[in-house]
Amino acid sequence: MRKKIIAGNWKMNKTLSEARALCTEIQSGLAGGLPENTISILCVPGLYLLPVKELIGNTSSLFVGAQNSAAFTDGAFTGETSATQLAAASIPYVIIGHSERRSLFGDTDEVIKTKIDLALEAGITPIFCCGEPKEIREAGTHESLVKSQVEAAILHLDASSIKKVVIAYEPVWAIGTGLTASSQQAQDMHAFIRSLLLKVYGKETADSISILYGGSVKASNAKELFEMPDVDGGLVGGASLQAAEFLGIIQCA
Ligand code: PEP
Repeated sequence: MRKKIIAGNWKMNKTLSEARALCTEIQSGLAGGLPENTISILCVPGLYLLPVKELIGNTSSLFVGAQNSAAFTDGAFTGETSATQLAAASIPYVIIGHSERRSLFGDTDEVIKTKIDLALEAGITPIFCCGEPKEIREAGTHESLVKSQVEAAILHLDASSIKKVVIAYEPVWAIGTGLTASSQQAQDMHAFIRSLLLKVYGKETADSISILYGGSVKASNAKELFEMPDVDGGLVGGASLQAAEFLGIIQCA
């Protein structure tokens, strides 16, 4: 059975002491355990990866993740952190291809493919983000855009590598806007993405891959979204910055 995953994307928020406090509050809220077959990942700013990892300690249900990794292995790339460096620091997850990276930092499909390959080579699980902007949704061409993003970034992988990828469908029009895709819109796109995986890798592999929904997930709408058969959890931005709200979302898994 594929895992349910609730990942928080803290983006560039919080001071170190606030980050520690948030992590501690989340941990104590999870003391009674997560819902069955569910894990949670805190994707924190790079500076906080190790302190948060140290606070979390060794658990099989709460993990730390990075928000990006470089498209290069090592060398003269000022300001970058490689997947190899993350792996050597035992960071198990990294978000790749977030829409903010695509729109603000020039992460093209080609760059994202390279980052995915390097993360997998380093032994880190990439959380690969895809999703359409508002005008594409309005034009009704959202499936073909998401298909092109998925094809460009991950469908070249072999079956054993693709099983290590987590996919996050994040319609850009729903990120940080308060607008959430309806549970049916999310389900339709998740089923479509799974059908792309099915064509290349077959049913067993397609059924094993977790596909998360991201875009204004809150404790009040998470249950309806997570109840859909192809929605395997969420990638949560704003609501992951408040422990009570994030814990409420986890309980909906
Ligand atoms: C995100 O940044 O990945 C995200 C989904 O943000 P929000 O939950 O704030 O829409």
